[in-house]
Amino acid sequence: MNTFSINTLVRENILKLKPYISFRDHNEFNEPIYLDANESPFGEWNRYPDSTQRKLKNSLAELRSLSPAQIAVGNGSDELIDLIIKIFCEPKKDAILMMNPSFAMYGFYATINENRVLQLDLDENFEIVKEDFLKTVKEESIKVFFLCSPNNPTGNSTEDIEFYLQNFDGIVVVDEAYIEFSGKKSSLELLAQYPNLIVLQTFSKAWGIAGARVGVAYASEEIIQLINTVKAPYNVNALSQELILNALEDENRLKDNVRDIVAERTWLQDQFKDTDCITKVFPTDANFFLIKLKDIDKVYAKMLEQEILTSRRDPAIPGCIRINVGTRQENEKLVNLLKNI
Ligand SMILES: *Cc1c(COP(=O)(O)O)cnc(C)c1O
Repeated sequence: MNTFSINTLVRENILKLKPYISFRDHNEFNEPIYLDANESPFGEWNRYPDSTQRKLKNSLAELRSLSPAQIAVGNGSDELIDLIIKIFCEPKKDAILMMNPSFAMYGFYATINENRVLQLDLDENFEIVKEDFLKTVKEESIKVFFLCSPNNPTGNSTEDIEFYLQNFDGIVVVDEAYIEFSGKKSSLELLAQYPNLIVLQTFSKAWGIAGARVGVAYASEEIIQLINTVKAPYNVNALSQELILNALEDENRLKDNVRDIVAERTWLQDQFKDTDCITKVFPTDANFFLIKLKDIDKVYAKMLEQEILTSRRDPAIPGCIRINVGTRQENEKLVNLLKNI
């Protein structure tokens, strides 16, 4: 992947695009009088947010030991997935590649952009079959490979991420929405080596701030510049930027959240092991796991009766439900129900 520039992968219209520049966000002022954006002069949230998300990026850059120019912030990582597809995939021509089963949003946004969605069927341990990958990526129209690790909904991580970076002449997006729960190394450390890598992370899961809708892309400055160019100027609202900045200053927040969830995950796993209606508990690196049930229709109906919401994954994954870790009280209610079936 070091043989050519990223620009050869970018759609032509995107390469020509001039970004919308908010003058006030790209210049330094002391005490400006804002008469430039038709805002109200009254109120607390009367101003448009910083379109460059400068403070947020500086804070993240420090945390990750990267440059702010290697960071893009989105309205959830969902927005970043959408933008990445729009930057690289020509409608009606190019394709994305994803694992199967994996996170549905990759296919959703690709389909909206009229790009084909090619899938790599995972093996019985939910792992990628490397020979299939090598065969599939020979197709030149594949521009982006979405590699979800730990994978949603299977919960397992992909080993040897570098293999995929080295053997694909397109963009590899490593979606690390659940990395904090995994104890495995983040692919962030590979950024310096691989210009075709984008790492996605989010504040929606381990950070516990899904309501704010904030996701982050880490990549080369070139790729980040492209994302900055195509994004809506004010894509992350002022309240969310402030909320996330405060969360980043709270050193223990993430650690405590992750410790508590991982402890509950272990407790739930133990409980599930001797629950008759469950035939298999899949290993997980995330805050959820897949369980296989003897009679999924019956169990799911009982759960709904008690308003316990879980995610059915059948028929794609036969007999399986994805359940995420809740509080001890919530988990106990779930376990009681399952043990009494
Ligand atoms: C939950 C999740 C996300 C997070 O999306 P946000 O838009 O940041 O909330 C991204 N990728 C995967 C695989 C997920 O499961």
